[in-house]
Amino acid sequence: MTRDQIRSYLELYRDLGIESIYRHASTAAPVAAPVQVAAAAAASAVSAHAALPGLAPEADTLERIRLDLGDCKRCRLSEGRHSIVFGSGNEQARLVFVGEGPGADEDEQGEPFVGRAGQLLTQMIENTAAKEGIPIRRPDVYICNVVKCRPPDNRTPLPDEMQICGEFLYRQLMAIKPKAICALGSTAMKALLNTKEGITKLRGKWHKWRDIPVMITYHPSYLLRQYNQQAKREAWEDLKVLLHYVYD
Ligand code: URA
Repeated sequence: MTRDQIRSYLELYRDLGIESIYRHASTAAPVAAPVQVAAAAAASAVSAHAALPGLAPEADTLERIRLDLGDCKRCRLSEGRHSIVFGSGNEQARLVFVGEGPGADEDEQGEPFVGRAGQLLTQMIENTAAKEGIPIRRPDVYICNVVKCRPPDNRTPLPDEMQICGEFLYRQLMAIKPKAICALGSTAMKALLNTKEGITKLRGKWHKWRDIPVMITYHPSYLLRQYNQQAKREAWEDLKVLLHYVYD
């Protein structure tokens, strides 16, 4: 790990309320000594490899994650937001959809995917499930975004915003432990797969985030554009594969 990576981990742990970490016995002689997270992060002064705790606290819950997020001011997106859009749906869902970030409607209502793209997503889930004989509705799945605050003018989230907020997304996914994740669009794809490939190459195939299968498909906002008939057909195919995998 580079110093900057260590510093960013330490800052994250400090934000999560973890006050100290312990160096691994094999790298810190003679007795493992606590390192004050705030001081270490500020000075970026960890010279030995630190045995960092797992990213999520033990027995993490969505409630705990939301509490830790608090009235978040960790990045510039907080400046223009009306509400933090944390996520909604079944907290024990077998399937989680991950979008990019809230738009104007979501920012106003505090719920993900409630605008036009959200209505299309709801239809896609419910109509495909009904046609395929799978008894689920939107409230049976969990829906959230990579960033929890609306980017100005709906621009794509920047890498540092994705990284900061992504830690909360990862905790949400680990707390829910779904059977599969659906990444909607290339921002969610990049956040989960850390890839530079384009979405047309990776969609419709299975990938993995940690041990959880991830299906990539197009973002519903993209499908709303009129000329996208082919993309629509492909997204419906992706969804069919996904729903059968999760619910058969
Ligand atoms: N687009 C997203 O990516 N997420 C939302 O919640 C709404 C629109």
